[in-house]
Amino acid sequence: MSQTYVTGFPRIGEKRELKFALEAYWAGNSDFETVKSVAKTLRERHWNYQKERHIDFISCNDFSLYDTMLDTAVMLGAIPPRFQGIEDKTERYFAMARGDAQRSAMEMTKWFNTNYHYIVPEIHAHMAFKVDISKIVDEYIEAKALGIDPKINLIGPLTFLALCNPVDGSDLFGFFDDVVEAYAKVLHAISSLGENIVIQFDEPLFAKTLEAKFLSLLKIAYERLGTVSRHLKIAVVTYFDRANEAVEILGNCPIWAIGLDFVYGEENLEALLHVNDKMLIAGLIDGRNVWKNNASKTYVLIEKISKTIDADHIILSTSCSLLHVPFSTRFEEKLAPEVKSRLSFALEKLEELEQINTLWEKREKPEISACTQKAPSVKSSGIFYTRSAYATRFALQQKALNLPLFPTTTIGSFPQTKETRAVRNAYKKGEITREQYEASLKESIKECVAIQEELGLDVLVHGEFERNDMVEYFGELLEGFAFSQNGWVQSYGSRCVKPPLLYGNVSRKQPLSVDWTVYAQSLTDKPMKGMLTGPVTILNWSFVRDDIPKSEVAYEVATAIAEEVDELQRHDIKIIQVDEAAFKEGYPLRAEKIKAYEKWAVESFKASVGTAWDQTQIHTHMCYSNFNDIIDTIERMDADVITIETSRSGNKLLKVFQKANYKAQIGPGVYDIHSPRVPSVEEMSEQIKAFLQVLPKEQLWINPDCGLKTRGWSETKAALANMIKAVYLAR
Ligand code: GLN
Ligand code: ZN
Repeated sequence: MSQTYVTGFPRIGEKRELKFALEAYWAGNSDFETVKSVAKTLRERHWNYQKERHIDFISCNDFSLYDTMLDTAVMLGAIPPRFQGIEDKTERYFAMARGDAQRSAMEMTKWFNTNYHYIVPEIHAHMAFKVDISKIVDEYIEAKALGIDPKINLIGPLTFLALCNPVDGSDLFGFFDDVVEAYAKVLHAISSLGENIVIQFDEPLFAKTLEAKFLSLLKIAYERLGTVSRHLKIAVVTYFDRANEAVEILGNCPIWAIGLDFVYGEENLEALLHVNDKMLIAGLIDGRNVWKNNASKTYVLIEKISKTIDADHIILSTSCSLLHVPFSTRFEEKLAPEVKSRLSFALEKLEELEQINTLWEKREKPEISACTQKAPSVKSSGIFYTRSAYATRFALQQKALNLPLFPTTTIGSFPQTKETRAVRNAYKKGEITREQYEASLKESIKECVAIQEELGLDVLVHGEFERNDMVEYFGELLEGFAFSQNGWVQSYGSRCVKPPLLYGNVSRKQPLSVDWTVYAQSLTDKPMKGMLTGPVTILNWSFVRDDIPKSEVAYEVATAIAEEVDELQRHDIKIIQVDEAAFKEGYPLRAEKIKAYEKWAVESFKASVGTAWDQTQIHTHMCYSNFNDIIDTIERMDADVITIETSRSGNKLLKVFQKANYKAQIGPGVYDIHSPRVPSVEEMSEQIKAFLQVLPKEQLWINPDCGLKTRGWSETKAALANMIKAVYLAR
């Protein structure tokens, strides 16, 4: 008999019940008892779903009211001092997550290369760890009462440590002993709950290219944790890429099982020799994408694995937690059957796991199924990048645009008020006519252009009021995308996103932004900047078909964008920005895979602007990136202007451009749009001076550091007015 294992399950609820319960509680419209009871119902429901599919290893403690990293910090007693005074545990927990009147929230950042955000634990010298396993005990007992013998999920000590922020600048590794001892106490406490409890330690850290130090600590940690109690079975689970180096170490640690991802790290096959006598938790069902599993492919993979690992030592599993996919396709009533039939969300993945297990047990190799995947794409006609060298373009653009020194602009979006959103929703629901919608949008654009003219900005934008989201908007207009009704995935806390489904051949059957941009341009003599989303960002924020290489999909998207670029310039739009906000996010965890990513990412970006004439100025924008390692790549993208988010780092980020002898123009953000604070003229003048220490004045644009969509109008106007005053002074 072989067994099945689910790394973790989504928790927000198939109807986002947890989201609504939390938000009602935060808004003061309901009490915490209601949240608790909703949470309990969800846990039970999720356990039962897994039980119905005969999953052998079902988790507890994968549930969270906000985030499991935050839960881990609480479990270890790693409470930042500013929250220690809050007596009530619940109040303290949510204050850490979201801040309160007196305290700023803990920081949040992306979990490896996913779109899930975790709370970054803050640690400092002399932190007194103090373990509290009450959450674990509660969930464990709850599961037991349902007749489930759950494994207990914990974030592994090394992944936890590596993701901590030592706020006082102390050396992370200095905390290692204390952290491991705290985990040992946790295990000790858990061991009194029962016999043979499986503890799953999530250690995705080891799917990254790492300093050797982490690997040596891995050994020390699991030698210690593996011997805390004979009653515990320790499983160390990695995912998102290969973890070969870690396997060599874990194979010699006193643990029960090693979990490896064979979907995103097939190279793990080469590590199997080192698994030794441990159980292998084989990640086979894709936990990060939404397409049906190809059972015959998976079966072949299991056969390969079983050449090295005895069949009775193989446990079939999801590649990672199912947290990263939506709940179930059964709520989708509107998707075209050709799309729906290809989808598999969390519940369907449970079925797939059960099915593959049954087939494997019977050694019944499935037929190669033709129905699961669509035919490969027809390669698009091909965009050739024939733009001249930057210097030539610069001269032509200067002549065409005649911009002053330190040109000012914004990143694209302007505040989206309640009214803007209401009008868009009303149109989507068919409550207002197309004419009414367009009239209202034109009003917003007109107002926005007038405000920008009054402020004295040099390069204007139309404001993006028609866009709910910078990827969804384009997906809705392009062929090859579909949208689920209920395909929500937790992004952070109660926030969910519904990524577009890029299922088919992408093409542009209609203009995407031309009307709005041309209308906006008609209102002003200043240049109007066209605003598009780039292919890499579109892919990184969608569920992308996996039956053809990503590079091919990217190229199709790029071709569609390139057609739009061409149509915009033919309508006399002289500046076009192609946003690559998520360019950095898509980077692989493994160093050796970076080149291939950069290759298709750069090529598809260039293809997306390959139609631009030399005199058409191409801008791009990237969010909060650390440009250190990617400056060459940015150079190869060959944009005329790049706007970046640097406002929180002075001119530190810019120095990278200086060192690389970067020639094109740069718009480093002069102020942080993520807070409503209005920066003073002096402050921004200082910032401009700092920029000029590292960049020649001809290269510099002045702009905020990201889109203004989430800001209010009053602070936006005030901040931009100050920005422009600072620019006048600088000129
Ligand atoms: N043009 C987009 C905007 O201004 C860019 C958003 C982003 O960088 N995340 O909203
Ligand atoms: Zn941005």
